[in-house]
Amino acid sequence: MKLIPYSRQTIDKNDINEVVKTLKSDFLTQGPKINLLEKKFKKIVNSNYCTAVNSATSALHVACIALGLKKGDYLWTVPNSFVSSSNCGLLVGAKVDFVDINFSTGNIDIQALERKLKNTPKKKLPKIIIPVHYGGLPPELDKIFVLSKKYNFKILEDASHAIGSSYRGNKIGNCKWSDITIFSLHPVKIITAGEGGIASTNNKALDKKMKMLRNHGITKEKKFFEKKNKYKWYFEQQFLGLNYRMTDISAALCISQLKKARSFVIKRNKIANLYKKLLDKKHLDLPESNKFSFSSFHLFVIRIKNKYSRERLFNFLRKKKILVNLHYIPIHLHPYYKRLGFKKGQFLQSEKHAERAISLHIFPSLKIKQVKLVSNYINYFLNKNEK
Ligand SMILES: *Cc1c(COP(=O)(O)O)cnc(C)c1O
Repeated sequence: MKLIPYSRQTIDKNDINEVVKTLKSDFLTQGPKINLLEKKFKKIVNSNYCTAVNSATSALHVACIALGLKKGDYLWTVPNSFVSSSNCGLLVGAKVDFVDINFSTGNIDIQALERKLKNTPKKKLPKIIIPVHYGGLPPELDKIFVLSKKYNFKILEDASHAIGSSYRGNKIGNCKWSDITIFSLHPVKIITAGEGGIASTNNKALDKKMKMLRNHGITKEKKFFEKKNKYKWYFEQQFLGLNYRMTDISAALCISQLKKARSFVIKRNKIANLYKKLLDKKHLDLPESNKFSFSSFHLFVIRIKNKYSRERLFNFLRKKKILVNLHYIPIHLHPYYKRLGFKKGQFLQSEKHAERAISLHIFPSLKIKQVKLVSNYINYFLNKNEK
């Protein structure tokens, strides 16, 4: 039997044709596809502006700089995420701290957030909070927004998992309750550019800043020049930036993928519903859903009630060539973060989650037969081992 990964890209003939067309065109980078992608993407997420970059990690980095995060500032996020969600703060010299998750959703725990804000001295309050859409399920953005007004912090949504998700009727990315939302276009995510990321915002100045940051801090637009100049070759670097540009090859792939984003999310939801029907709930917690949220189902994460069975089930499935995974090792427990002073026991819900979670495979081309096979293996294993 072929190996089944937890997620993978879905590429069709049109995707390939679009990439080939760009390869044969005049521009492999800095051509017309980036503008076109940004125009289409902002329509899909319903925001005023979008900036495409070469990864979600880059998007988080330029977003932090654009929001003014600096040395001496604080950034808070959740431990139950990929390391990019907090590395972006460290990269600009800020200090990072975490807020624990609500075990049932895997997302930021609003009560824990409120408590932490209340108990933090004014000088150490965060400048930015990064809520993560775990597995595609939106966190309670409206409640975080209310707190942001009271405690004066910016909200940067890490929606790497959440293209196609929505919350209280708002598409994720429309930034109704945030300053910037970022998405990932890595092949395991909802749609792909090979590598890529997008930042959406409704703030014109933030968008301009991010567009310059991805290109060395350079502007070529006459209307923005600090120095009056008549020369056609003239451009200005106005602050320190990076080369985080997306190529036109990636953008061409992503534009083609965008057409299928909706159908991909529908397929992911169908698979999730099938798992929910098939899996024996006696020994498992299944992903939470609620009437306010629509999840893209980037991940389908089960939690084994008996943590001692998790590793054995994990190994059992891997032996059957079912490449289940773990999302996530809590960020604060990585050696790098431990050296910054974080300790086991600091964020108990994230740690408990990491001891019990298994990400099952879910992606648009997954066959119903495969969902049944995996569900049967899990039910068999748990009913045999858990009495
Ligand atoms: C994948 C991911 C990222 C990083 O995305 P890249 O595009 O690979 O840089 C950041 N945050 C979360 C939550 C992710 O899942």
